[in-house]
Amino acid sequence: MSMQISINKTATPRQKPADPGKLGFGQIFTDHMFMMDYIEGKGWHNARIVPYGPLTLEPSTMVLHYGQAVFEGLKAYKTGDGRVLLFRPEKNMERINVSNERMCIPPIDVEFGVEAIKALVKVDRDWIPDAEGTSLYIRPFIFATDPYLGVRPSHTYSFIIILSPSGPYYPGGIDPVKIYVESKYVRAVKGGTGFAKTPGNYAASLKAQAEAKELGYIQVLWLDGVERKYIEEVGSMNVFFKINGEVITPSLEGSILPGITRDSVIHLLKSWGVKVTERRISIEELYRAHSEGKLEEAFGTGTAAVISPIGELNWSGNKIVINNNRIGDMSQKLYDTITGIQTGKLEDKFGWTVEVE
Ligand SMILES: *Cc1c(COP(=O)(O)O)cnc(C)c1O
Repeated sequence: MSMQISINKTATPRQKPADPGKLGFGQIFTDHMFMMDYIEGKGWHNARIVPYGPLTLEPSTMVLHYGQAVFEGLKAYKTGDGRVLLFRPEKNMERINVSNERMCIPPIDVEFGVEAIKALVKVDRDWIPDAEGTSLYIRPFIFATDPYLGVRPSHTYSFIIILSPSGPYYPGGIDPVKIYVESKYVRAVKGGTGFAKTPGNYAASLKAQAEAKELGYIQVLWLDGVERKYIEEVGSMNVFFKINGEVITPSLEGSILPGITRDSVIHLLKSWGVKVTERRISIEELYRAHSEGKLEEAFGTGTAAVISPIGELNWSGNKIVINNNRIGDMSQKLYDTITGIQTGKLEDKFGWTVEVE
């Protein structure tokens, strides 16, 4: 797809946040956004970068009623020498098409999607913070726009990309989290939408998260939707366990989101000669490994946190502490290596970074 992207810059640029330590996450947006429309028969068209601002939608807009939408999340990083790097952006555009296919949304051209991200980041590059641990979060999303009440795929869609400068995920250093093993609610089942990044999955997870919070836990560990037996994900992150020197992560069987950080971790571990296995792992097996003293590390992986160590698990009142509630050596090495590659501090042996020029 070769489509021109028109650029209409704002006449009233906003003040950029002064203190990168106070950026937080997802609260501040840059001056511009990318937009493109889809009409059945015409395809994707009218690619444009315009000032960031409210959308005008009819109350009957389909996405508001039936949730036909997908999204992505990735980051741009400033390097020490002032370059701007994206991390494996083509993977996000490939994945949005996997989500699109499941949600009956027309695909976008992967290369054009990456070009759109680059063009927008370039326009707002002065918004990218450069303090340690900061980045520019990129949120591409597509939603159904037909003004219509009735359950069917929409004939029209909007594809939008917005940008949000974000602060360090761990302002006080990497802290292991307390996780509640969820035995009542489920996130996804095979045949459902668990592998797609679609808003309904997150709406469906809120109740479990709220109840876990009430009990003093940051997130939930999801078990499979049929037997409540096999481990799936932790919050909206993929999950890894180091047991007796071997690293195990649940295999992708349709109910788990195929994380790009997950894929990067698997590649890195293999390149270091660490044994990595993708397979089903039950919560019983995990607790047994712990009681035998073999559970060495546990961590979640995702774009926002990169690596999030798990310090404590509570499964039906049965609590275990992992690695004395400290980040493990392997988790730390993975975090340092991935963030090092992302920010241009370490050699990018795998060719994962893409420069925005
Ligand atoms: C986005 C997401 C992940 C992590 O994917 P990354 O590509 O590593 O950011 C994991 N699980 C869920 C449910 C997600 O939405």
